[in-house]
Amino acid sequence: MVRTAPVAEASLNLVLFGPPGAGKGTQADRIAQRHNIPKISTGDMLRKAVQEGSHVGESVRETLQRGALVGDDLMISLVRERLERPDTAQGFVLDGFPRTIPQAAALDGLLADRGAVTVIALVVHTDEVISRLAKRKRDDDEAYVIRERLAVYARETEPVLEYYRRRGAVTILDGNRPMDAVTETIEAVVRTRG
Ligand code: ADP
Repeated sequence: MVRTAPVAEASLNLVLFGPPGAGKGTQADRIAQRHNIPKISTGDMLRKAVQEGSHVGESVRETLQRGALVGDDLMISLVRERLERPDTAQGFVLDGFPRTIPQAAALDGLLADRGAVTVIALVVHTDEVISRLAKRKRDDDEAYVIRERLAVYARETEPVLEYYRRRGAVTILDGNRPMDAVTETIEAVVRTRG
């Protein structure tokens, strides 16, 4: 009998993209769990740093409260360090990064020798986003901070979508639908990747 070594499933390097309130965090959790790979949420990393009172936490606390973006250099080095950890060898789900063109360019470099990267953008109507965020109870979900985060998204982050779109490297999904339906659509894209 001829035995063949099991074919290792290609690693899943997934970037979930979308405005605040698009459901990236929830979807990233689900996909990460199903594929047994880490979710890398830059928002979670920053909030944890603030809670722990670390040096990084101290330096970003006020920025998070305002709904502004943390500087690119710090974000890129945080993500670089996180991607160097061995648990990302079979892949990862990135949630909240890249949020600027310099971050997207840096990510290209960080992932250059990792095989294919799948970028999925969740598109959600602005009124749906506002109503979802208003129901959450996070510190930066006050109405005026939500407005600032949406303005920052339009100004700094939406161009990243165009950056990927130009390269034909992004799948755009309707994030207005119920969460389970969105998860299944993401899975379908993931299954047909590469
Ligand atoms: P949401 O997508 O719901 O706004 P996140 O948890 O992704 O929330 O991010 C919360 C905050 O963390 C952002 O408003 C920003 O201040 C900071 N942040 C997260 N990721 C980045 C990033 N890639 N670049 C700069 N700032 C970031």
